[in-house]
Amino acid sequence: MTAVAAAAGAALTPAFAMGRSTQDPVVDSLPQDGKAIRKEKVPWRVLPFPMKQVRLGEGPCKDAMEADRRYLNSLPPERLLHTFRITAGIPSSAQPLGGWEAPDCELRGHYAGGHYLSACALMYASSGDDDLKKNANHVVAGLGQCQAALKSGYLSAFPAEFFDRLRERQKVWAPFYTIHKIMAGLLDTYVYCGNEQALDLAEKMAGWADRYTESLSYEHMQRVLGTEFGGMGEVFCNLYAVTGKRDYLEIAPRFDKKQFFDPLADHRDELKGLHVNTHIPQVIAAARCYELTGERRYRDIAEYFWDEVVSERSYCTGGTSNNESWNTDPGKLATELGPTTTECCCAYNLMKLTRHLFGWSGDARFMDYYERALFNHRLGTINPEDGAMMYYLPLASGYYKTFGTAFDSFWCCTGTGSEEYAKLGDSIYFHGDDSLYVNLYIDSQLDWPEKGLSVKQQTGFPQEQGTTLEIAGKGPVQLGIHLRVPYWVQGGGVKINGMALPAFASPGSYLTLNRVWKPGDKIELSLPMGLHMESMPDDESMQAAMFGPLVLAGRFDEVPKAASYGEMGPKKERQRMVPDIVADSGNSTGWMEADVKDPLAFHGVGQAEAVTMVPLYKLIHERYAVYWKVGRKMS
Ligand SMILES: [Zn+2]
Repeated sequence: MTAVAAAAGAALTPAFAMGRSTQDPVVDSLPQDGKAIRKEKVPWRVLPFPMKQVRLGEGPCKDAMEADRRYLNSLPPERLLHTFRITAGIPSSAQPLGGWEAPDCELRGHYAGGHYLSACALMYASSGDDDLKKNANHVVAGLGQCQAALKSGYLSAFPAEFFDRLRERQKVWAPFYTIHKIMAGLLDTYVYCGNEQALDLAEKMAGWADRYTESLSYEHMQRVLGTEFGGMGEVFCNLYAVTGKRDYLEIAPRFDKKQFFDPLADHRDELKGLHVNTHIPQVIAAARCYELTGERRYRDIAEYFWDEVVSERSYCTGGTSNNESWNTDPGKLATELGPTTTECCCAYNLMKLTRHLFGWSGDARFMDYYERALFNHRLGTINPEDGAMMYYLPLASGYYKTFGTAFDSFWCCTGTGSEEYAKLGDSIYFHGDDSLYVNLYIDSQLDWPEKGLSVKQQTGFPQEQGTTLEIAGKGPVQLGIHLRVPYWVQGGGVKINGMALPAFASPGSYLTLNRVWKPGDKIELSLPMGLHMESMPDDESMQAAMFGPLVLAGRFDEVPKAASYGEMGPKKERQRMVPDIVADSGNSTGWMEADVKDPLAFHGVGQAEAVTMVPLYKLIHERYAVYWKVGRKMS
């Protein structure tokens, strides 16, 4: 294994020398004789497009992406490298960063040398921002000097002594978690920016991690896995996928936590008491192991976990966790509301897992969930004005959103958020050999050069209840276009070149339009939204209002900016009690009436206190209520 790692740099040059980018977010590996070799035993049934082929148009997703892009551009590479250099004994006079990147924080380096690189690489792929690519390359070069000075392949902003503490089971935060972020950041810089040095550094880190884990007995390693370790299994799988070096695939299962995987493989929910964001990345690793080994047990783990968490342990927003954990038996959520519900990282990781399950199946329910989490938990947890990102999204009524600061937060969720908003275009379109899947209704343009085709999606969704797709390109092409008909749609229809089709598909499936498409062809899809209530699984009277895919929130008083920045969540005592709602027993949404101007705003009727409901994602600096206690009134 060690020898393999050392030989890495030279062997990989051809990938980019041949002018072919290994940009695919999932599956590309080293081309041999000019042909990409897929290492997957189980390829995805439907595949995403490389992000550079999709560009976002105007709308809330583009706003979030641009806010993230400005934030990433504001981070000075020299400051990011500071603690890495200090740890490697290289002088640095840069001003240290604060928060979880502060020189005395045990997680330092997770953002600066990890999430930052992933986010820059993804943003480069999605937007072509050359400055970010340059900055990422600068950080990689700096990290290379640090790794060379540390000599063993080890690379981190904290000393290797943390791993002695981990081995001895002494108190230490999460060393492998941080190593995973750095390895993933380097790998992303290789995959999306073509930085060969980044892959070389990642492989040297892998060599170090191999030696560390190899020296431990199975039982000892299982004890080490009691400390949060991110997606170490996933990054080893991905190293195998891009290099074809089998050793990496054999190291990945060292990070299989038996105590967590065994019940999942047996379809038992023993998630109560677990820290959520420690565990979702392990399931992503299982999904990746399934794809690369074909071992069915890994798929069982991933599928059962997803079903259980999404159906029994998630709120109306698609978010999961309370106080970062699953504290209850399945289906018990009514008591799980507070100022620190639904950590943003959990939504990020659950969406990432969802994408794998969708890739295997092409099943619309996965994209229904993806849309739910995207429009209710990911939009609205970045402030589009300044790029500040949230940690918890509070779902107990009467709280408000809090955001990190630019240089003194660097929470885990700042990291996953920085990545999320850099890849909002990566799941809108998927494809098969002769099929195109339109999963999400987001204004965007897709280029598909292999088919000589481009698709322009014009929509004001979710403000607009539908979308228009226009085909452009060289000539006629036979293609099945699959349009997702979401679970929430109330009616709906489709027109091709102005002619209404007599058929439609049922909610929660894909409508397939199979024909020869010509440049200029136009598809108009109408997706009428309606009001509906979503109850807590264990309390019918605890309800959230939704309009189409959107969670509506009651909007209350404005929160001063001073209270909105710097804290991971609002203080418990700052809750303001909100009134209960009274609803007609025969008409659960009759207590709301549409605003005359704003298609996404509603007003309470016949309630004790006036209340206006707007999409949760649109609220930034106002107190809100998502779940209401709803009393019945007989009509
Ligand atoms: Zn987090």
